[in-house]
Order: sequence, then C-alpha cells, then structure tokens
Amino acid sequence: MNPHTHPTNILSFDVEHWYSATLLGGNVGDSVDRIHESTDIVLDTLRRYDAVATFFIVGEVAETYPEIIRKIADDGHEIASHGQTHTPIFDLTPEQFEYELSASADALEWASGDRPIGFRAPNFSVTRETEWSIDVLESSDYVYDSSVFPMKTPMYGVSKGSLRPYLVNSERPFEPTTDTTTGESRLVEYPMAVTDTPFRLPVAGGFYARLFPIELLEWGIRRLNRRGIPATLYFHPWEFNPAVSTPDPPFANRFISFHGIDRTAAKLERLLQTFEFDTHASDLTGRGWRELATGLSTGNESI
Ligand SMILES: [Zn+2]
Repeated sequence: MNPHTHPTNILSFDVEHWYSATLLGGNVGDSVDRIHESTDIVLDTLRRYDAVATFFIVGEVAETYPEIIRKIADDGHEIASHGQTHTPIFDLTPEQFEYELSASADALEWASGDRPIGFRAPNFSVTRETEWSIDVLESSDYVYDSSVFPMKTPMYGVSKGSLRPYLVNSERPFEPTTDTTTGESRLVEYPMAVTDTPFRLPVAGGFYARLFPIELLEWGIRRLNRRGIPATLYFHPWEFNPAVSTPDPPFANRFISFHGIDRTAAKLERLLQTFEFDTHASDLTGRGWRELATGLSTGNESI
C-alpha cells in the first residue's frame, strides 16, 4: 500500500500507573510500578520504525518520574496531558477540572521544558453528561482535546459523535463545525477511531486492539482513511508489558484490563508496518488549525 494516498494516522499512548486502570479499582496486590520498563518497550518499538507519537501523561507521574518524560521528549514525541491525578471528569467539578488542566500543564512543562497543547481525559470522560468540560477546555491554554469516544459504550462515549477531527462549536460541541473561517472556535477535537458502516465499531486501540484480530483493526483504519479521516489510536505502555497482569481483580474486570496483553506488541508492530502515524500536534499544524484555534499557548513553537 502506498501510504501517501492515505491520510496519516495519529498514534498516542496514555502514560499512567498501570494499576490506576479504573476497572481494577485499587484491587491490586502487587502494585510494583513498572512504568520504566513499560515505557522503554514502547520507545524501543517506535525507534525501530522511526515513528513518532503523542504521549498523554498524568501530571503526578511526571512529578514522580521526570526522567521518563525527558526520555520521551528526547525521542521527538509530543508530550500532552492526561490530567493531574487521572480522575475521570465524571468525578470532578468544573473548578477541579480546571485544576487538573493547569496543574498537569505545570508538571509537564517542569519535566519537559514545553507546555503541552493537548489533553486527553481519563476514561474518555468528555461526554454529553460532562458537556461543561468543553467550556473549561476552551477557556484553557490547551489547543486540542482527544477525549471523545464517538459511540456509546457502557463506560463512556458519545452516541453519533463526529468520526473526523473538527473545530469545536461550543453550542454543539459534538458536531463538526463547517465554517472554519470565523475564528470563533478555540478548541480542536480528535475523536478516537471508530468506523461507522455497517455499524459503529471501535478500532481505537487499547482493549479493542487487544480483543480484535489485527485484520479487523486494519480494515477499520483503512475504511476511515478512504474517507479522508485519520484514525486516532491509543495504547497504554503497560499494555506492552505482560508482567503487569495480576490475578487479584474479579474475572470480568481482569479480562478487559489484561486480555491479549501478550500480543499487543506484535499488533502495534504490524500497524506501524502498514500505516503512517504522526503526532496530534503536527497533524494540527498540517491542517492549518493551530492558528485557527485561538487562545493558543505560547512558548511551545518547537512542537
Ligand atoms: Zn488513562
């Protein structure tokens, strides 16, 4: 396949303590933090394929392990925010959410030298129920958000959400803005990769990538690409490290958290062989949207 006939896709990693996965609910005996070895596995793989990605990092992780953040940034990847404490927006007030955004930006800037312009909510918790969070994001220094899962799932998601990246209109935050000339939008949204024919099917990575055969993931990504839509994929570094699997939580939660973990690395390598990937920040620049989204953060021109 000639990659140039397809839009570049976007690869991202959410960096958090592996035992902070919500379904484990703290129900973990061996909470050894394997964040160094897990992140190294991912960085080595990306280096081998000469690929760059966006790393959404929890602020508290950056405060504890600044050397990991520097290592990620030194490899040319984009550093972005995954909140300060990895608390889903469902459990936050607007004031607490503002704090999550600014404290994590401070922590990441301290660790990496650059202030992040992108945010991903824990558990894709930007939904119709937490629509207020869009207003908070728009009035923040962040330029883009990648927290919308454009189909309803038991845990999160926006039914019939836009499948393609769009400039957010705060009146209708889950519908793409058609007029990009007014300059009124202060935020860009990158929904997670979901295909829509014959029905919505998540191919966004994480649990879905571990559950589905690689052929189905590739089919879904190609389907989006044919319509000019980049696939935004997410993984967690711990998903490449079978050592994190623990027998402690109940079966159903353990299944969602760890199923297929021994095959994630091979799947990612196959995706890196098949598709072209880039960071959110350079996709944003490529679309010319970085200037359109007002309220740009400054001092971040190196991204
Ligand atoms: Zn997370």
